[in-house]
Order: sequence, then C-alpha cells, then structure tokens
Amino acid sequence: MKYYSTNGQAPIADLQKAVVKGLAEDRGLYMPERIEKLPKAFFDNIQDMTFQDIAYNVASNFFGEDVDEDALQEIVYDTLQFDCPVAKITDDIYTLELFHGPTLAFKDVGARFMARLLRYFIGRANSVAHRTVNVLVATSGDTGSAVANGFLGVEGIHVYVLYPKGKVSPIQECQFTTLGQNITAIEVDGVFDDCQTLVKSAFMDAELNEHMMLTSANSINVARFLPQAFYYFNAYARMKTLGKADNLVMCVPSGNFGNICSALFGHEMGLPIKRFIAANNANDVFFNYLQTGKYEPKASIQTLANAMDVGNPSNFARIYDLYGQSHERISALISGATYKDEQIAEAMQQCYKQTGYILDPHGACGYRALQEGLQPGEVGVFCETAHPAKFKEKVDAILGIDIDIPARLKAFMEGEKQSVEMSKEFADFKAYLMHQ
Ligand SMILES: *Cc1c(COP(=O)(O)O)cnc(C)c1O
Repeated sequence: MKYYSTNGQAPIADLQKAVVKGLAEDRGLYMPERIEKLPKAFFDNIQDMTFQDIAYNVASNFFGEDVDEDALQEIVYDTLQFDCPVAKITDDIYTLELFHGPTLAFKDVGARFMARLLRYFIGRANSVAHRTVNVLVATSGDTGSAVANGFLGVEGIHVYVLYPKGKVSPIQECQFTTLGQNITAIEVDGVFDDCQTLVKSAFMDAELNEHMMLTSANSINVARFLPQAFYYFNAYARMKTLGKADNLVMCVPSGNFGNICSALFGHEMGLPIKRFIAANNANDVFFNYLQTGKYEPKASIQTLANAMDVGNPSNFARIYDLYGQSHERISALISGATYKDEQIAEAMQQCYKQTGYILDPHGACGYRALQEGLQPGEVGVFCETAHPAKFKEKVDAILGIDIDIPARLKAFMEGEKQSVEMSKEFADFKAYLMHQ
C-alpha cells in the first residue's frame, strides 16, 4: 500500500516509512491511497468471531500487503491481550468499554500495535546495522503511560517519556516512571508545551539525529491510530449478538480525533454504522466547523476531561481529506456536541443515580451527547475511553463515592519512581541524549 501526505507536497511513502517517520516531510499526515471494503461474508459472520479474530481480519485488510501474514497475526494477537466489551446503560444507550488494557485507557491498543509493528520493520531493516530506535514522547498524562507500557520490553527500541514536573496526577505518573527496562521518564521543569518543544527541537537537530535514530509515537502515526478501528468492528459484532445493530449511532469522546478517525476508516471498510457523533468538552473547534464550515484552531482550554483538551485536533486533516474536503459530506455523517465542566459533572451524577454506572469525565461527554442526540429507532454506543479510577479524585468528588482502584493500577502505585530531572532548555536535553 502506498501512503500520500494530506499536504500533497511530500513523496509517496510505503508503510515502513510512514510508521518509522510518523509525519511526512511536508508536515502532512500519511493517508493510504485506497481503503478496501471487507467482504459481505465477514459482516454476516462477525457476531460469531472473537475480538482478536475480528481485529486480525481488519488488520489484514489494511496492512496485509506490507506485513507477512504470520507476523501480522502475531502482532494483532499479542496486542490484544484483553477484551473490549459493551455494557448496557439504558434501553437504547450502550457503552463500549475501551479501558481493559494495561493502563486502563483506549490508547493501549494503538501503542502496543505500533510498538510491535515498528519492531517488525526494525528487525527487517536492521539485520546488519543493529541500531537502537529511540522513541521520544511528550505527555500530559495518558499518552505517556500507554506508549511506555506499549513499548515496555520491546527489543531494539528505547522510549523517553517527557512530562511536566508536578503537573501530572500521581496515578498517571506512576504508570510511566516505575517501569525501568527500556523506558526512561524525564521530568521536565516546565509545562506540557515545554516538553513538546523539547521533542520537536530534538527531531530538527541534525547532530542529534546523526548520533541516534529518533522517532515519535504520537497519534498521527498510521500504526497508532488505525488499529483503534478494531474497537468499532467489535462493537458492531457485540451489538449484533444483542439484536441491536441495525440503526447504530457511534459516539466518540474526542480530542485529537485519532480515535473517531479510525472509526470513520472502519466505516469506509464497510462497517454498517448509520452515523457518528464527536463528543467534545469545552474545546469546540470541530463542533464549530460542523456548524459553519470554517475550521478555526484555538488555544486549548483546560477542562475536567483533560485528555481531550485540544484546540487544534491533528487528525482533522485526515477526516477532511477522507471526505474530499467536503463540509457537506462530513456534516451529513458526523454531528457534534460540546459540554462545559458543569454539564460533564451533571451527566456523571445523573447516570450514576439512575443506572449505577460510573462514568469517567471523557465518557460522560459521549453519554450526554447520545442522550441529547439520539433519534427514535436509533441505538447509540458511546466509548468509555478510560477507567474512572484513572481520574479518582475528580470522580470521587463529583459522585461523592470512594471508587475502588483496580489491582493493575495499584501495582503501578507500589513501584519505585525513577526519573531523570531536566530543565526546559534544549541544550541540556540535547547534552543528555548525546551521552546515551
Ligand atoms: C486520548 C484520549 C481521548 C481523546 O482521543 P483522541 O483520539 O485524541 O480524539 C479521550 N479520552 C481519553 C481518556 C483519552 O486518553
């Protein structure tokens, strides 16, 4: 499969280059030149298949030309060591729980898949050179833990997670500072934007790039965002078993729009979803685009659902390209919703009181958008993108409860923190990396 850049000014790439480089030379996002439909027989039998088997069919439709069959099968099965169930909330609203992975958030699938696919490509390219590939990732919380755990113990790859000192919750911090092995946590004396600037400067520094092989693992990478489509095929299969799959509305709490973009790719592969809702917090750039046809990025606003605090969603470029830049096509298939913190808290309280289900602040946006936007005859599924215990302080305060911390999360909290202290000056970061 060939990949082109959404900016149209970079050379066509193959999958290996798209995965290793992440971003095209013209700073556009890589797009596959075509998306194949899956056969009717697959959808006819999907309800009898496991999450892993469904995912392998989808992966093979997408990556089959570029990855050996056995290797791809191993990558998929090794990535999906956990389930992705649907739970009933009301008669017509269901939730797709995307938080059963190692760090209890949906980014686990993309991070694990990318680590294994990158390892596969390095293994082929490096048979002589044996150079370590270094992944740099800046995080305000969730991305760092998913990437660190996804790449943990993967041979030939070292991960540096940069995070702002004192600005990440203790529950999040322990998920990437206690791992050791090939994961180094770098505690930057600054804010998230400083971390991101250090990473960007590193990619642009010629001397550093000669000294070590650098790559990124953010959600613009084809290997990170696309595997999330597995979730949506599984949702359809599980809803079909329940006899509820005929008029499905899929609602995705969105920040950088990588997750919903993978669902839209699934739709292009033939997945029978009637329409989509992108649920946002107070960061309403996409919502406004749907109303006006104008895309106007803003600075991000801090909210209760902080993994969605994005003022310029990077995957918008992919959605725009996928539908031929047509506002009409985009707004016919996707609608939007935007909620302030008070509305998010209200949705969490209402859902808990009436159904007993504990939402996290991100999922709560999705739940509320379905409550307000579902038409008669439709069945809605919203993604629960993280386990509520990841946001324990907020959830406890809003619901007046003391939510249990799952054993997996507790285990991280018992580990010993290891981190490297760093100033926000690039010269210091560079000097550190030059000694590695
Ligand atoms: C990353 C994240 C999101 C947003 O996903 P995008 O793919 O960036 O749209 C939503 N919820 C949680 C919990 C997240 O970690």
